[in-house]
Amino acid sequence: MQKKMRYRAKKDRKRKIRAGKGFFVAVSVSIAVFLSAGAVSADTVINQKNIEDGLTFCAQYPVQLMLDGQKITFSEKDVPPLIITPDGAEAGYTLIPARALFEAMGASVSWVNETQSIEIVHHDFSVAFIVGSQTAKVNGAEKALDVPALIIDHDGDYYGSTMIPVRFAAEALGCDVQWVNETRTVAVAAPAQSGNEDPNRGDTGSRPSQVPDDSSGENKTDGTENGISTGYVSHGVETGNGTIIIEGYEFPLYDMSVLPAPTEQAKTKLIALDMGHGGQDVGSQGHKGQADELNEKDLNLAVGQRVRDYLSAAGINIYMIRENDVYIEKKERAYMANAVGADLFVSFHNNSSEYSSPNGTETHYYTKFSADGRSEFALYGIESSSVAKTIQAEMIDALGTQNRGTKSSPELAVLNKTEMPAVLVEGAFLSNESNLSMMQTQEFIERYAFACAKGIILSLNAAFPD
Ligand SMILES: [Zn+2]
Repeated sequence: MQKKMRYRAKKDRKRKIRAGKGFFVAVSVSIAVFLSAGAVSADTVINQKNIEDGLTFCAQYPVQLMLDGQKITFSEKDVPPLIITPDGAEAGYTLIPARALFEAMGASVSWVNETQSIEIVHHDFSVAFIVGSQTAKVNGAEKALDVPALIIDHDGDYYGSTMIPVRFAAEALGCDVQWVNETRTVAVAAPAQSGNEDPNRGDTGSRPSQVPDDSSGENKTDGTENGISTGYVSHGVETGNGTIIIEGYEFPLYDMSVLPAPTEQAKTKLIALDMGHGGQDVGSQGHKGQADELNEKDLNLAVGQRVRDYLSAAGINIYMIRENDVYIEKKERAYMANAVGADLFVSFHNNSSEYSSPNGTETHYYTKFSADGRSEFALYGIESSSVAKTIQAEMIDALGTQNRGTKSSPELAVLNKTEMPAVLVEGAFLSNESNLSMMQTQEFIERYAFACAKGIILSLNAAFPD
């Protein structure tokens, strides 16, 4: 059945998502190009044979893709460009992997597993496809498609590529698209204007006035609540929809330039920062075994170090459970914090699931009582649950991730073996493609760290006002 072995996907599962049934099986991001301008009825039926014939045809007559005169190459994991001629149609449609072309153009390409949809954003333009749907959204408006986006498994391994019509997608983004028959080339010309050179579009840093934030600590006109300037400005391209594209990922606008100033009482407290995992315990892994493998332990450590930087700069006392790549047992982490008499314990983790769809941010806490029945609030003046809520809210503002809420988790060793109020933050899911693409950016680490540092200071200030 799988005659075209040269197209068999390598073991590389990068960006691949387990999904689907039948021949439309999940994976990375690709697109379909309209070859000729023939009209096809709205209810195009594409069957397995159309796809197999298209793959066979393109194996014999490969299709090239050029962007502004440069040849675009595809990775081995992608389904190669494919021409589909639906039954009864006169026109063929070329389908190609989307990321290679549109990311080369500087666009942001994101796959949303829950809705099985792919969205491409470039400057002021956006186009979104839902797998199998005959309509696409161009700048939010529905448009009919001649062929739907398809997920194609080309070698029967239940991993495939999401394919979308390239001509349609490229034109929706303001590109000029030509088919050069002699060389079997789809020639795409990016829009002439460059958003980065447009002073009205280029990022000028975060704009506090646009960031919903009721933290009065940032109001510099109030002498008692001057913030701590971090000097941090996110560099990216604003979309005009309250988001900014940084390192290819769309983040919400979020001001990290100023941290709330801690109260004098807050500065007397000791905060234990715990970076989950370490050493032989790598934690969760994204894209395991691949070139861009991401281990949770490294991410947690990077986040914790930045939290330390932010809190230290604000004058908060810090105790670091680990500062490098070492293995420490979970119970031991709790005992270390107990031994130094920490007032609050915050653990940084990232999540994983055996399924690809779970995603988002959650914060765990465990409200404790001492052996003689006194509450943590009575003993420490601050509560795990309210710290968790404050950090969680800040994380959602910073990352724009799905809000999975706060959870009471007495089973977690670092929460139940610590004597002081303790929370554990799960930033995002390494097992979810969209979350992982965010987690692979430096901006994710900065935002995660800033949000936690700010959440900690706000919690301390609320519990210990001057
Ligand atoms: Zn973990």
